[in-house]
Formats: sequence, C-alpha cells, structure tokens
Amino acid sequence: MERILNYVNGELIEPVSGKYLQNYEPATGQIYGEIPDSDSKDVELAISGAEAAKDSWANTSRQERSDILIKLANIIESRMDEFVIAESRDNGKPEKLARAVDIPRAVSNLKFFASAILHTESQFHEMDDIAINYTKRQAIGVVGCISPWNLPLYLFTWKIAPALATGNCVIAKPSEITPFTAYLLSKAAIEAGLPKGVLNIIHGLGAKVGAAITAAPKIKAISFTGGTATGKAIAEVAAPMFKKLSLELGGKNPNIIFNDCDFETTLNTAVHSSFANQGQICLCGSRIFVQNGIYEKFKKAFVEKVSKLKVGDPKQSDSNLGAIVSKDHLEKIKYYINLAQEEGGKILTGGQSPQINGRCKDGYFMRPTIIEGLSYDCRTNQEEIFGPVVTIMPFETEEEVLKYANSTGYGLASTVWTNNIHTAQNMAEHIDAGIIWINCWLVRDLRTPFGGMKASGVGREGGNEALRFFTEPKNVCIKL
Ligand code: NDP
Repeated sequence: MERILNYVNGELIEPVSGKYLQNYEPATGQIYGEIPDSDSKDVELAISGAEAAKDSWANTSRQERSDILIKLANIIESRMDEFVIAESRDNGKPEKLARAVDIPRAVSNLKFFASAILHTESQFHEMDDIAINYTKRQAIGVVGCISPWNLPLYLFTWKIAPALATGNCVIAKPSEITPFTAYLLSKAAIEAGLPKGVLNIIHGLGAKVGAAITAAPKIKAISFTGGTATGKAIAEVAAPMFKKLSLELGGKNPNIIFNDCDFETTLNTAVHSSFANQGQICLCGSRIFVQNGIYEKFKKAFVEKVSKLKVGDPKQSDSNLGAIVSKDHLEKIKYYINLAQEEGGKILTGGQSPQINGRCKDGYFMRPTIIEGLSYDCRTNQEEIFGPVVTIMPFETEEEVLKYANSTGYGLASTVWTNNIHTAQNMAEHIDAGIIWINCWLVRDLRTPFGGMKASGVGREGGNEALRFFTEPKNVCIKL
C-alpha cells in the first residue's frame, strides 16, 4: 500500500488529522494507496510557510527562479518511466498516452514559463515633456492552484509553473482522485532545491482542502480548472473577497464538418478528438455536425473505425482507450447513455462496458459510443458528459450549424473542417468559443490564450495571459 504525504514548507509530512483516504486504480477497481485526508489546518500550515517565504522568493532573481524550474523539469524528464506509470495507474489512461502527451507536456510547461520570465517586456508611457510612466508587474504573494483529474500533472504544472516563475508562493491541490504524480513532483521539487514554503501541495477532498484554499483571506488569487458547478461555488466565496480568479471550466464542444473537407484527415482526427483519454479532455469534441452531402459516408466510416478501437489494460501498448477515472464517473457516463436512448437516440456503436479479463476484470471501462437521431437541444446535447460518448447530427447550411453549435451554455472550443476559407472564417467569427481549430485539433502553442467563454470559464491561461494573471501591475509616474 503506497501512502503519499503533503508537501508543506519544504517537507513531506502527514496530514494534521492523521487521517487518510483510499486511492483506487481505475483499471483494476482495487485500492492501491492512501492519500492524506487534509483539511483547513493543513492549508493554514502551508499558508504560514508560504507567507514566510514570499518576500524572499519574489526578490529572488528571475534567472535563479528560472534555473530552479528548469532543474525541476529536467528531474521529471529523467524519471519519465516512473511518472508515466504513476499517471496511468492513477488515472486509467493508456501508458502510451501519458508517455506521448501528459508527462512531456508537464516538462514543457515548466520549461516554457521558466524561459518566458526571462523575456518579458514592461510598458512605458511617455507624456511628452510632462512625465513618464513605467509599469512594473509584481508577484501577488500567496496564490492557490486547484486542478482536476483528467490531465493530472499536465494541468497541475500548467498552473504552478507560471505562478512560481512570476515569484509567487503557491498552495496547490491536485484532484484527490489522481494525486500521485503531484506527490512525485513534490519530491522532485525538494531535489531541485526549491526553497521551503515556495510550493506547498495539500492532498485531500475538494470540499475540505479546495474550500479552505478558496476561503483563506491570505490567498490572493485562485487559478482553478474543473467543473462549472465547482467554479461557480469558488467564485461565490472568492469574489466578495476580491480575489483574482481564473476559472477554466466545462465544455460541450462542436466538431463541424463540411462537404468539402479533407475526408480522411477529418475522419482520423474526429476519432482522436472524440475518444482520446477516454473522451475525458475538456477540449474533446462531443457533438459532431456533418453536412448532408457527406453525412452517410462519414457516419459509416466513423462507426467502422470507432468500433475497431481497442479498450483495454492501460499497460498494453495496443489499447486505444484505457479505464474511466472512477466508478462514480463511469456511472455518470452510463446515466447519460440511458438518457440519450430515452430522448430517442440510437446507439450506432458502443453503449456498454466491454468484458475485460485478467488483471482488469473489475476495472471501470466503457466502449467508445456514437449516438445518432437526437435533436441539438436535448439534454444529451446540452450537458457535459466528459466521457467516450459523442452524438452525430446532419446539417445543411452555415446558419443552421451555427445555431446548433452555439446552443449550449458552454463555449470552450470548436473544430471546423472545410477547404473554403470564407466558410472557415465565417465559422471562426461567429462560434462562441475561446478556441477555434480549423482543420486540426489540439494543436497547442503555449503562447496563445487558452480558455473558454460563457459557462466554460472566466479569464485565460497560457503565455502572457498567465504571466499577467499571476502578477499585479503597478504604474509609476515620474514628473519630468
Ligand atoms: P471538479 O470541479 O469536481 O474538481 C476540480 C478540482 O476542484 C478538484 O481538485 C476537486 O477536488 C476540487 N474541488 C471540488 N470541490 C471544491 C470546492 N468546493 N472548492 C474548491 N475546490 C473544489 O472537476 P473534475 O475533477 O471532475 O474535472 C472534470 C471537469 O473539469 C470537467 O467539467 C472538465 O470539463 C473540466 N476541465 C476543464 C478544463 C479547461 O481547461 N476548461 C480542462 C480540464 C478539465 P476533488 O477531486 O477532491 O473533488
């Protein structure tokens, strides 16, 4: 039984309560470890350490902060196997996905922001011969970072890297469902020489640890990624305290496929964008709209390809999909598959858990599922499922598909597939989403703004947006 510990004030320590939660391996359904069942006392301890460290860290030179973060990234990179195996075991995702995407991207996040702080520019405003203004950007102090289970280390580092690079001390909470790589990262941080109190990682439940981070007056900014309902609860507590808030929330992303698309590329990417990470990526397309001229052809080819995907042990290199993250989440996905059928949907492939023998016989698996015959405005097409379930619907005109695409409360991402530049631009102009991919999906330049509109969030991450979020601007005006 592996027991993980909190990382507080530079040390790995037990939770104050001495209590632990069980950690399940989704691929087997078995408990394999224990994680601290922390509460507000652990958060208070972390805040004291961070408060003591904050001035010194903010005044540490950019070069020195950068060097430590690069060292941290290099340590993770040098232990790729350990991190990959831990991420897959905790989350259920195929090891090959963790090796290709999750862990390399965590390394890139750290390296990107470690470099970015060395190349920032400040603003300078000249008022002829009256005065000059220069704008400093200073660290906020102590900030909170709360991340979800779907891309555990990837999203955790996406927050802590810019926060630390800009000179803040961090109180971070990974999802209690997938805490292990954050624990490995805390060990790597000690080895990299991160000064004590600069990064604190508190494990435990959202309702205890997450809520304590949100409510603590000394934590001046919260960067959160997770569900829309949780984001709302955080905003309700944090906004009256005037905390800075970055909320990256749920999505219900449309894939819009026109008759003139490049058929094979569109098809292959649609398979990937629907079912990568068991459909548990906030950017996955879950509503596929196909223009009438190719609807039947696309549907047939899509169903054929998807029905051949192998769902299996995340350790096996030929598994295309691994396990769903938890038993509860699998139940939620099943609920929506039943709802879709009640709403008149027809399952074209999937819809059931596969029978898996051996080590994974009690794991939480679901076949990739395609549903046809639903209206754009039914619950299945409006609510986030966050699993390997997509719907497919025909459309005729740009106007019609824009209405469908924009009909949900969400506005995170969209893909558009066409070779007509005018169509592509018209879609990009009118789709309510923070991220539009034309003829591609999940192509990421870390300098670009990342995030959604409407119920998908407030604020943006990435590049300068993140550097600005984690700093306070201060204008200095000097009379000439
Ligand atoms: P949750 O909102 O349930 O949890 C996210 C994090 O918040 C977890 O660490 C959770 O802890 C914590 N938390 C829960 N309750 C509270 C609370 N009251 N106060 C503070 N923190 C709390 O989301 P999931 O982990 O289920 O993640 C899936 C969701 O994340 C989906 O909706 C998905 O779309 C969204 N997401 C959005 C992304 C984006 O960039 N827009 C990217 C990735 C995912 P605990 O685990 O203990 O509950």
